[in-house]
Amino acid sequence: MKICRYDNNRIGVVKNKQLYDASSALDTLPELRWPVPLGDHFVANLEKLIPELEQAAAKSEPVDIDSVRLLSPVANPSKIIAAPVNYEKHLAEAQTDRDLHQDTQIKPIAKAGLFLKANSSLVGPGEGVAVRFINTRVDHEVELAVIIGKRTDRISRDKAIDSVAAYAIGLDMSVRGTEDRSFRKSADGYTVLGPWLVTADEIPEPGNLDLQIKINDELRQQSNTRYLIYDIPRLIEFASSFYTLYPGDIILTGTPEGVGPVKDGDIMLAEIAQIGSMRIAVRQD
Ligand code: MN
Repeated sequence: MKICRYDNNRIGVVKNKQLYDASSALDTLPELRWPVPLGDHFVANLEKLIPELEQAAAKSEPVDIDSVRLLSPVANPSKIIAAPVNYEKHLAEAQTDRDLHQDTQIKPIAKAGLFLKANSSLVGPGEGVAVRFINTRVDHEVELAVIIGKRTDRISRDKAIDSVAAYAIGLDMSVRGTEDRSFRKSADGYTVLGPWLVTADEIPEPGNLDLQIKINDELRQQSNTRYLIYDIPRLIEFASSFYTLYPGDIILTGTPEGVGPVKDGDIMLAEIAQIGSMRIAVRQD
């Protein structure tokens, strides 16, 4: 199932470029009291919600998906985890392009580990990316995003895929510079998730998905998740060896080669096979 969040926190089921409002299913979510459990309440209850979403959508008239404002399909992750250098060809460009990395010691993922992005950086495609810095290079990084479905602590790679609730397209927008990654990649709007969640049952082979991004119709990045250095089970094993993962946690799996700058007025068009595509406007803030 493809599930989006849009406009004023409505929930929709997406079929063939049409959206079916299923917001009434939210009435079946259990009520929360402070302190709320870590993680995203919607994703934590996703399995129970699926039949409710189906019923609600069946009663709705189709709406053109392009007529709504798409928000991040995950509202409240407990954390956004990201893989720094997880494609060989991106490692090569990062090690040789000094505009890209002033740090001459770019390390592959096994030595670099993972990093965290601020939850407040998360937006949906309809919100766009507001570039904060005028004289600083800000790059697009298109990545497959993995959405965790259940509490997961120190899981082995052979069981790791059972922790996945869904997939989405992620953009890990990045200021280039010498600062730590969590600083450069956590400004408001610098994590884009969308256009919707695709439940894991629809993507049996996440390790073989074409992904790409165009900027103003110019193809910048094009690869396939089969070139990941740490594949998805390994990333979940690795991440959960350090942090307990909660429902709604997002793992950005890393970007392939071809990263490049964006500026005010640019239109980014990101696409991943079996998920869909999303259009994101860049503006100066
Ligand atoms: Mn990245």
